[in-house]
Amino acid sequence: MSAQEKILGKGMTSLRTRQRLVERLTNQGISDVRVLEAMRDTPRHLFLDEALASRAYEDLALPIGHQQTISQPYIVAKMTEALIQGEKLSSKPLETVLEIGTGCGYQTAILSKFSDRVISIERIKPLHERAKLILKALKIRNIELFHDDGSRFEKITKKYDAILSAAAPLAAPEYLYKSLKLGGKLIIPIGNAFSQKLILITRISIKEFKTEELEEVLFVPLLAGLVN
Ligand code: SAH
Repeated sequence: MSAQEKILGKGMTSLRTRQRLVERLTNQGISDVRVLEAMRDTPRHLFLDEALASRAYEDLALPIGHQQTISQPYIVAKMTEALIQGEKLSSKPLETVLEIGTGCGYQTAILSKFSDRVISIERIKPLHERAKLILKALKIRNIELFHDDGSRFEKITKKYDAILSAAAPLAAPEYLYKSLKLGGKLIIPIGNAFSQKLILITRISIKEFKTEELEEVLFVPLLAGLVN
């Protein structure tokens, strides 16, 4: 199989298989066509080990090593949809996006389709390195990946249109609220290992934030410190 065929996902990861994933996402309530197209066109199988690649288009979180998981497609779609809802219908509705928890880089690839620039942080170095390789092979260039700890953030002083955390803290960290531009949105799972809610926070003014609870979820915890 040529490299191009691999990326297109010939065989077990064919367009038909991906189309079925899109149908499933639609049935689960994902309605933004931009998101559905991004989910159809992003080769999720390339982010997984070969042994798991055949399951890439099932709606499952799957292991990526180091006790971490690639997020479930429905959750990736749901979070992306929440961040771009109400944004202009241009192909890149967001300017700068921050992602905490790159993992294998799949959500990063999806976010890169909707933003001029994605900054993504991962605390586990081998995962960070692996994501870098995959995203480079896919020629995704509007991203910057850092091996860093997203739970303490003094270094990053920028303001973002959107922030997505793929790991759950016990409470929403204040520095993330403060890193939103006016009108910016933060989507983050909050809770412990047994019970979490996906929360959408919108910055309405300098001091005001609107908080919406979206649904029950289960993410890995947001942990402090780096792993080499
Ligand atoms: N969207 C990713 C999800 C990976 S799981 C994917 O689909 O692959 C969440 C990731 O958050 C894990 O890789 C974990 O190591 C990372 N993480 C947890 N705490 C973190 C922190 N403080 N800073 C950066 N990354 C963190």
